[in-house]
Amino acid sequence: MAKNETLAKDATRSDVVESSPDVTVLPSAEPPPGLPRGIALSPSRASDFLSCPLLFRYRAIDRFPEKPSSAAARGSLVHSVLEDLFDLPAPARTLDAATELLMPAWERMVDRQPSLTFAVAAGSDRAVDAEGDQAQVDLDRPPNVSAKELARWIRGAEPLLRTYFNLEDPQHLEPASRELRIEVELADGPPLRGIVDRVDIAPNGLKRVVDYKTGRSPGEGFEQRAMFQMRFYALMLWRLHGSIPKRLQLIYLGDSQILHYDPSEQELLAFERTLRALWDAITKVAESGDWQPRPSRMCGWCDHHDRCPTKGGTIPNLPTDLNLIPKPVA
Ligand code: SF4
Repeated sequence: MAKNETLAKDATRSDVVESSPDVTVLPSAEPPPGLPRGIALSPSRASDFLSCPLLFRYRAIDRFPEKPSSAAARGSLVHSVLEDLFDLPAPARTLDAATELLMPAWERMVDRQPSLTFAVAAGSDRAVDAEGDQAQVDLDRPPNVSAKELARWIRGAEPLLRTYFNLEDPQHLEPASRELRIEVELADGPPLRGIVDRVDIAPNGLKRVVDYKTGRSPGEGFEQRAMFQMRFYALMLWRLHGSIPKRLQLIYLGDSQILHYDPSEQELLAFERTLRALWDAITKVAESGDWQPRPSRMCGWCDHHDRCPTKGGTIPNLPTDLNLIPKPVA
């Protein structure tokens, strides 16, 4: 895997422009006992289960709402702008144009999810206070945020866009897909779901899967963990389209780094076995209903302290009708 490598822009330029079709091949099969209909494994939910099975339950089964953090909301905003940027004609894809897209993108996001304004309110990065207790908020009553406060918060995204333009020239890219939603069910295995930030297809047909990260790149020795999500997408695209993406690429806007990795068939087969084993573990716990908490540093970012016995909370009963739980977006 190579790090800190700038793109060879001409070599990776895609001349193929496609629409971004949603590819959905999930059958509406009965879910395993204890899991709601429509559930699928995504990179985020897989990582939730690995870090804390109870957190997985709250996010994937109960689907309790969570207070959006400033960092996550800003990340979503930058993703949205980098998607919108490619709607502009190539010569118009400048840093100034991207900066102009920030506010309209934010307004659209808040229209869809008003609770996002919690992310702008001061001190919203963590859901816990200085004593480690969780701040109680009513997600149905988003705070009022002044225009000045919002403008300052939006400006916080500008350095991330500047870094993007230092790493790539969007005037020389024509992505084949952006924000591509994919779902696929492995034969006799877990249903998988994910949203791929960008797929580029080179003139020779080779695919590159790109994911933007608004945080910092992982330290030495942690790159493999960072590639988990990309292998997940590569496996899904392989199973859907029959060809393995040539390159998986993570673009870290937090510290201007690029990680890339060219997966082999053998590695993806091994990864598929890992996902099957993980799904087996999830279905076993679901059948038993014994979703155990697993405290770690992640607890500091967890919104469910009042439902967690390790924090003095009480685990609520599982929903009685799992089929009534709405299908997740991702
Ligand atoms: S507080 Fe920690 S242990 Fe409890 S549910 Fe959240 S992540 Fe799991």
